[in-house]
Amino acid sequence: MSAQSGCDVLLVVVDREERSSLAVALQDEGHRVTATAGFAEARQQLEKHPPGVVISDIRLGDFNGLHLAFLASDLPTTASIVLDDHRDPMLESQAREFQAVYLVKPIDTIELITHISRFLRCLTPHTMTDWKAFPATCPNGHEVRPAFTVDELKAGQVEGTLQFHCVQCDTDWKPTAEENAHLRRWLEEHST
Ligand SMILES: [Zn+2]
Repeated sequence: MSAQSGCDVLLVVVDREERSSLAVALQDEGHRVTATAGFAEARQQLEKHPPGVVISDIRLGDFNGLHLAFLASDLPTTASIVLDDHRDPMLESQAREFQAVYLVKPIDTIELITHISRFLRCLTPHTMTDWKAFPATCPNGHEVRPAFTVDELKAGQVEGTLQFHCVQCDTDWKPTAEENAHLRRWLEEHST
């Protein structure tokens, strides 16, 4: 079976280096990561494609990341984790009201990953999407694993809009002919 069951993770972290290292750690665990620094983009993503887990900084510039946890608390299949710069009992109890896990930086990646696997056991099966991660190298030389569902691949190939994304440097690029052939093969295997 080439598809794997991971979790769709929406990662909302302001610091670029921190965002990239968390994204890579989550991808290495087989999760599919959408990473952003922006509150507005995160909220839109949360509404359009509810992830299995949203992980967000509490301090998001002018915005409060707890608002994302609040929105997630209304979604039956989205769990949330909030990240704070230092322990703040007030924010911690607010996070708990929204059923969010409250973690203080520096983030222990193992602890973060353990929380996600705990969520995965509670989440209903339909939040586990059938997708495949393809090993790829971005134009800046990062080894990443962009992931697609069968539907995304179909739509992307028909419209010619398929793009790979690097979570380390936020670069989008078009798959090479060889990568496209690989994507097509996987798609054929999964369309029958
Ligand atoms: Zn890159």
